[in-house]
Amino acid sequence: MKPVSLCLILANMALVVYSLPITEPTEEDYAFGETYLKRFYNLTEETVPTARQGPSQRSRKVQEMQKFFGLKLTGTLDSETLAMMKKPRCGVPDVQIGHFSTFNNRKWKTNQLTYRIENYTPDMSVAEVDQSITRALQVWAKVSPLRFIRIYRGTADIMISFTRGDHGDFNPFDGPGGTLAHAFAPGPYIGGDAHFDDDENFSFISTRGYNLFLVAAHEFGHSLGLDHSKDPRALMFPTYSYRNPRTFSLPRDDVNGIQYIYGPNPDVNPKPDKPEPTPPSTPDACDPSLVLDAVTTLRGKKMFFKGRFFWINFSKNRKPVQKLIKAFWPQLPENIDAAYESLVSNKVFIFKDIQVWAISGYEIVPGYPRYLNAVGLPRTVKKVDAALYDQVSKKTLFFVGDNYYSYNEITERMDQGFPKRVDEGFPGMTSKVTAAFQVQGFTYLFSGPLVFEYSMWTKRQFRVLGNNYFLPC
Ligand SMILES: [Zn+2]
Ligand SMILES: [Zn+2]
Repeated sequence: MKPVSLCLILANMALVVYSLPITEPTEEDYAFGETYLKRFYNLTEETVPTARQGPSQRSRKVQEMQKFFGLKLTGTLDSETLAMMKKPRCGVPDVQIGHFSTFNNRKWKTNQLTYRIENYTPDMSVAEVDQSITRALQVWAKVSPLRFIRIYRGTADIMISFTRGDHGDFNPFDGPGGTLAHAFAPGPYIGGDAHFDDDENFSFISTRGYNLFLVAAHEFGHSLGLDHSKDPRALMFPTYSYRNPRTFSLPRDDVNGIQYIYGPNPDVNPKPDKPEPTPPSTPDACDPSLVLDAVTTLRGKKMFFKGRFFWINFSKNRKPVQKLIKAFWPQLPENIDAAYESLVSNKVFIFKDIQVWAISGYEIVPGYPRYLNAVGLPRTVKKVDAALYDQVSKKTLFFVGDNYYSYNEITERMDQGFPKRVDEGFPGMTSKVTAAFQVQGFTYLFSGPLVFEYSMWTKRQFRVLGNNYFLPC
């Protein structure tokens, strides 16, 4: 222990009770600090310092690190500095070193990027890993023009793998704790790739271990060209800190960073200045967080349901207009669950809880509403999340939670082998489908405010869009 003067104790007492013991760094601390500064601050082999050269390179590097993290600039491995160095963190250096470097704003030349998940961690299920990765990419897609397409073979722009120790890129991982993952700035070959240290325990939604979504969202920031941020609230701050993944929204510093490189998301129109006040219950097509209740086609038109309203595009070149559901079909419920147009019976079916209505033009088909078992669904299903008529298989698909059913309207039977997991039929679709339809050769699966575009025939995912793709405002 260092002797501490009485006046210093009194000065500290006036501020806050300071409980950290003042200890000298040990030999191990020095060795640890040296490795840390070499890895993250480009500390090179020390030349023997002389009095004339001023502070040693090591001391300057300690100060550089302290400056980055907003610590007191002591230039020594004090306990506060060592504590920060020991926090779990990203393996990408805080200053530009080697091939992690962005070489002054290296960016992708295209906004459509591919990614591939090469392998999985045993810590989580395949679906949980898929969903964590997809969501982590969407964090960036939401606020930029970047769109991500998953591929299953060949070389993607962003190759994602779980690995441990020395793994062939001269940046070995270090066992549990310490470095959690690293990713490379945009470019060919290893550029854009993200590696996760499989000696860590990754988790899906719990606070156990390290949340894969949070770690991946940070790493993809590097894959897109961002460096570490000095803002401790930023996702791109170098150390790991848990935030609730369910309520996560990208901090302002990161939004500014990605938009500085790629610009804003063209699908999210900024809100106009003070439009005329609208009743709070009227859904706004301009709201980027709008989650539609249901979508369907109706004799070549598209309909989008939300709350008491629906939008319909009466003519091809005009913006969809908003109408009250009750104004057209007084018997229909509001806040519906799902809707689809059957090309077998030429009717539109509307779902709410355990009931289904059939409409033909402005009329409710006599005999409706009926219960869900009328469309072959088992009694265990109490609610349909989304439905669509598949023009390729000529079957109706019902989305319920993580699964979907395939129904043959002609034989009035559910197909064998169903329900199936949604991501089995629609690769990459790991979040809940909230609305769905097919138009112009594509299947569109809505999930929250996002729209996933699939080829109707190959079931390959093409683009991830926002509601504004169909509902301009
Ligand atoms: Zn990082
Ligand atoms: Zn690596």
